[in-house]
Amino acid sequence: MKGIAILGSTGSIGVSTLDVVGRHPERFRVVALTAYRNAERLAEQCRRFRPSYAVMVDAASAEELRMLLADMADAPQVLDGAMALSEVAALNDVDYVMAAIVGAAGLMSSLAAARAGKRLLLANKEALVVSGALLMDAARDNGATLLPIDSEHNAIFQCLPPGRADALLAAGVERILLTASGGPFRETAPEGLAAVTPEQAVAHPNWRMGRKISVDSATMMNKGLEIIEACWLFATNPERIQVVVHPQSVIHSMVQYNDGSVLAQLGNPDMRTPIAHALGWPERIDAGVAPLDLIEIARLDFEPPAPERFPCLRLAYRAAGEGGTAPAVLNAANEIAVAAFLDRRIAFTDIARVVEQTMDLLPTVPVDLGGLEHVLGVDAEARRLAEQQSAALAA
Ligand code: NAD
Ligand code: MG
Repeated sequence: MKGIAILGSTGSIGVSTLDVVGRHPERFRVVALTAYRNAERLAEQCRRFRPSYAVMVDAASAEELRMLLADMADAPQVLDGAMALSEVAALNDVDYVMAAIVGAAGLMSSLAAARAGKRLLLANKEALVVSGALLMDAARDNGATLLPIDSEHNAIFQCLPPGRADALLAAGVERILLTASGGPFRETAPEGLAAVTPEQAVAHPNWRMGRKISVDSATMMNKGLEIIEACWLFATNPERIQVVVHPQSVIHSMVQYNDGSVLAQLGNPDMRTPIAHALGWPERIDAGVAPLDLIEIARLDFEPPAPERFPCLRLAYRAAGEGGTAPAVLNAANEIAVAAFLDRRIAFTDIARVVEQTMDLLPTVPVDLGGLEHVLGVDAEARRLAEQQSAALAA
């Protein structure tokens, strides 16, 4: 029986995780659930999964949750605040931590899970983008097992020989073929992008996800973040990663070996597959996902990404190439710009503008040794500058 903490349990990945966990009551016990402010949904999840702890972002939301659970016999202990996320991630009876908070807000708790030597199921790609070196070091130094939940990285992991995820060249891997759906605007003329609405941007053709990652998919910043994520997870560099647009999202990514073999992982676009893979690993467990029907799908298409339509992809390559603090700046500016776009303060095409201007304003420097404070300082400064850029564009 493995104890599990699900950080961000009310989100898209969190709900899918509980769906898989609920299919295996003999294997998993939910120890902690956490949410931002959605006390009602967390209350429902607490009644169904009976965790020992529940965490809300602030005292008011925590009080709301306590009220909602007032009649529950074995109600969880309700905590609040960012520190509590790290505390539940490191609890003794927690074996697995699902890191499914969106954005750099998930960094500290992901790091806490790694430092506590847990099995870290990492959906929160921003944590690796902001501080990949710290997170990878913490996992290695404390014997944590880091398993990727992002569908592409989970696919790559599945296509690598066991135990060789950090030694690609020695394992004969020449390239990673990172697939991308191209998002809702794959065929939109670049001139038409300035006028797209948040509703259009979050309407992903293949995946139902949270709003932030859906916008990232529409700008292809998501693929950019994933290139950086792959560099950390598989100890490689952007030159060895090729982005392949594959509109059906059936192949979740591929690995090319030096003998000409290309291994791919296929499946229906349903995050319960990578989640179940990481929960069950090295065994396989039922995910509740419908089997893939290739005859129904009939064809798989591939094309190169269109750089003029997706400037964010170029910016992510720039950040990956510069290294140091550049990916943290890229990520922070993107989070601010996406929020401004979702609030209808700036246009869709302004997202790349805000990110580029923020990167131009903040010179890239190496991250200080052991530099969590450094990275957090850069993140805060980039957010401040990106807010200024967004406000100027909104005026
Ligand atoms: P979501 O918006 O649906 O859910 C986010 C969760 O985090 C919610 O439970 C929310 O309450 C919580 N949260 C948000 N801000 C918080 C804060 N400041 N402090 C504490 N908790 C906070 O997002 P999602 O789509 O589930 O994505 C979660 C992560 O997984 C992201 O990093 C995303 O890039 C990654 N991911 C998601 C998918 C997907 O299919 N949804 C696929 C690959 C990777
Ligand atoms: Mg992905």
